[in-house]
Amino acid sequence: MGWEPIRKRHTGAVRPNLADYPRSRAEFSWDSARRQLAGLPGGGLNIAHEAVDRHAAGPLRDKVALRCRDRGGHATELTYDDLRRATNRFANVLRSLGIGKGDRVATLLGRVPELYVTAIGTVKNTSVYAPLFSAFGPEPVRERLRLGDVRVLVTTPQLYRKRVEQLRESLPALEHVLVIGDPPPGTRSFAAEMALASDEFTIPPTSPDDMALLHFTSGTTGKPKGAVHVHGAVLAHHVTAAYALDLHTDDVYWCTADPGWVTGTSYGIIAPLTHGVTMIVDASDFDAHGWYEVLQDEHVTVWYTAPTALRMLMRSGAELAKRYDLSALRFVASVGEPLNPEVVVWGQEALGLPVHDNWWQTETGAIMISNYAAEDIRPGSMGLPMPGVEAGIVMGDGERVVEVTDPEAVGELALRPGWPSMFRGYLHDDARYAKSFLNGWYLTGDLARRDPDGYYWFIGRADDVIKSAGHLVGPFEVESALMEHPAVAESGVIGKPDPVVGEVVKAFVTLRPGHEPTDELRTELIAFGRRRLGAVAPKEIAFDQHLPHTRSGKVMRRLLKARELGLPEGDTSTLEVGR
Ligand code: AMP
Repeated sequence: MGWEPIRKRHTGAVRPNLADYPRSRAEFSWDSARRQLAGLPGGGLNIAHEAVDRHAAGPLRDKVALRCRDRGGHATELTYDDLRRATNRFANVLRSLGIGKGDRVATLLGRVPELYVTAIGTVKNTSVYAPLFSAFGPEPVRERLRLGDVRVLVTTPQLYRKRVEQLRESLPALEHVLVIGDPPPGTRSFAAEMALASDEFTIPPTSPDDMALLHFTSGTTGKPKGAVHVHGAVLAHHVTAAYALDLHTDDVYWCTADPGWVTGTSYGIIAPLTHGVTMIVDASDFDAHGWYEVLQDEHVTVWYTAPTALRMLMRSGAELAKRYDLSALRFVASVGEPLNPEVVVWGQEALGLPVHDNWWQTETGAIMISNYAAEDIRPGSMGLPMPGVEAGIVMGDGERVVEVTDPEAVGELALRPGWPSMFRGYLHDDARYAKSFLNGWYLTGDLARRDPDGYYWFIGRADDVIKSAGHLVGPFEVESALMEHPAVAESGVIGKPDPVVGEVVKAFVTLRPGHEPTDELRTELIAFGRRRLGAVAPKEIAFDQHLPHTRSGKVMRRLLKARELGLPEGDTSTLEVGR
């Protein structure tokens, strides 16, 4: 079905930052954009200085940087100067623990003020900030802490007991756990350490190429990957938030991304602060009434959210939205999964504003393709490449890729390396990093097409990775966890399409001899997965004693998926003989 483009009328009081896309794109250079940043007083570049200290030293000193609502709706406010002092303290805490440049500090936290203090205090100390999803179970937490050689973890006593305590012995690198609340044995109190620390701190020399952030992401094979990002990425965070989110200093901005996801850092912490906005932080889980209340009561002007959340709001009806005064809201953007055109159009009806989809991924560090405030929206399209970003559709054979320029050709979405927030490596895996680049392109793993006017349209993943409610789920990680159950001989995991969360994780399981495919066992396996994996565990399990295999013995997830969807099974020439 064709959808009418949404034409933009420029009647708003706020002039879009990107008022003339073709011209800005033609004139843009990262070198000249660099002037928008302050830089460290003695030279160099540190994210914490751009996000906090530069504002605390100027007219925004007493402006509210963070307004953190707890689950009861009670708010704590931190001004830019409060944040400068609190992050100085945290940097001093790290220093007193012997944590220095390049050392990894992770959070396993919901949206609480300490998360922001930890993130910025860590990069201020030139250590490396690594956020984890608090919904992860113990297995994924352990894998990531281990892969990241994490030396400090900041969490809550409850999460520590549930997710970390039993693994502590297998994590020799993890020297310090700071908890927000009463410290269980083997941990320290975050508040007590902060109280002892000075609120004066001088940021050590930092180069734009120094590692600042470590984001974990999933692939189809093997363990999770740790994407390395540097301080220089802040330039891309800042510029893309100006263009794709249309952030202005006067905005009240709300990003609903989970803090464990790259969006939670790039656009949930760094970019909005570099723009000097007031950021709303809400600790509650999704609830349609609650969300509209936040938009209304906090007078949110710019809102960055995700398709799953928007689809859930849509399910509760446009009427509900209309019961709230959302007149302050002027710009809505979404990321992380395909945004169906119905949702873009629903935004017009329910919020009086269209939803601006944009595309990026952990490795790109910042938005690469976007719909913009002053450009028409083609519902269903991810939009146009950001100024300073060259995108293309490529095809190849694994050895070589070439760009395909025919409009509408489907191929892999690729980017020309060189934007400042490009990942600089997969930690401890140079070979995998090298494989991401071919013939001068970074290969994204997504399939897309480009229409004759240059708008990009998402087709699907080029691999077996699953996107469930915005979480990128590595099937291998799920399969490995299931196979630790004594009844499971083998498993194959796929994403099964779902109208709200995009895909749900479904596992096909082959049982060991002596085990029967009963409903009890199914329930037990679901609970087992949930205990180990948390939010990324399979929601559905099917028993299958004849999983299809390739000749090299791997379970053919693609075929499982085709069968699940009732699609043609396609090329099965690599199937195991006899199946
Ligand atoms: P992550 O690295 O977890 O942020 O996941 C990145 C992946 O999410 C991309 O490679 C896409 O597969 C998917 N994704 C992100 N944004 C969009 C979007 N706007 N439309 C469709 N898929 C998206």
